[in-house]
Amino acid sequence: MRPEILIAGQGLAGTLLAWELEQAGIPFLIRDPGHEGAATAAAAGIINAITGRRLVKTWRFDVLRPLAAEVWRDLGDALGVRLWREMRVRREFADDEERNAWERKAATGELSPYAGGPFDDGFWIVGAARVDLAAAMAAARRRWRMQGRLREDTVPDLAAAAERHRMVIDCTGAAGASHGAFDFVPWEFSKGDTLEIGVEGLDPDVILNRRLWVAPTGEGVALVGATNEPGVTDSRPDPVARERLIA
Ligand SMILES: Cc1cc2nc3c(=O)[nH]c(=O)nc-3n(C[C@H](O)[C@H](O)[C@H](O)COP(=O)(O)OP(=O)(O)OC[C@H]3O[C@@H](n4cnc5c(N)ncnc54)[C@H](O)[C@@H]3O)c2cc1C
Repeated sequence: MRPEILIAGQGLAGTLLAWELEQAGIPFLIRDPGHEGAATAAAAGIINAITGRRLVKTWRFDVLRPLAAEVWRDLGDALGVRLWREMRVRREFADDEERNAWERKAATGELSPYAGGPFDDGFWIVGAARVDLAAAMAAARRRWRMQGRLREDTVPDLAAAAERHRMVIDCTGAAGASHGAFDFVPWEFSKGDTLEIGVEGLDPDVILNRRLWVAPTGEGVALVGATNEPGVTDSRPDPVARERLIA
């Protein structure tokens, strides 16, 4: 029997949604041709309490972080892979503006309890984490393929698919801009590149952050990123971004 729910897209959103449905015992079909161009395939999976040049505390972090830890640990257990790793961030000031923001916010306790101790050129952020998204996407794909719940193709027309399923849930990421259903959203596109590097001597529990970040992902391997090109919509790796990340 055809499942009533179709999930279009198996990036981060589609994967987590399908996992919730599976746990609730609700049948679904998920369709995705592969992850070429998926934001999830480029992302570092960093979960960080304090971000940006103005050192802003992440929205609803106190509530969402414990929830994220639980979900990713449970999913990792079901898939037989370790997906969640507790991390600290060594945040170095890129300029005086950042230093001033830190001094102002440290004085009011605004960043508590995530601002750890200061050092000469920065401060520690505690309570961060990293999700192994590559492992999550691949293992979830294997699981649902074996269960006959994944079709490795594109949904060419989501509206037409809605006639064959009771509900179609659009998890197609940036591609959702071209389906028409979300025309009311003021889309703003941005492209990002990350680079995987071989590097020895990094602390596996520490993300380095000074404008860009370096996130250890395994023995002698780290991700460096991310670039940000507002308005760019293609998803090909960019040689200029690569040079910038190497530098
Ligand atoms: C370089 C970079 C670094 C990032 N780093 C972080 C980070 O460290 N921490 C963080 O929290 N966020 C990060 N992000 C943001 C995060 O990656 C995204 O918010 C998230 O991955 C979006 O997931 P998604 O499932 O919505 O979309 P996507 O991952 O883009 O997935 C969409 C999926 O839909 C599929 N699809 C498209 N059209 C169709 C169709 N018609 N039929 C079927 N399938 C279709 C695609 O194949 C794709 O697999 C980063 C993003 C980038 C680009």
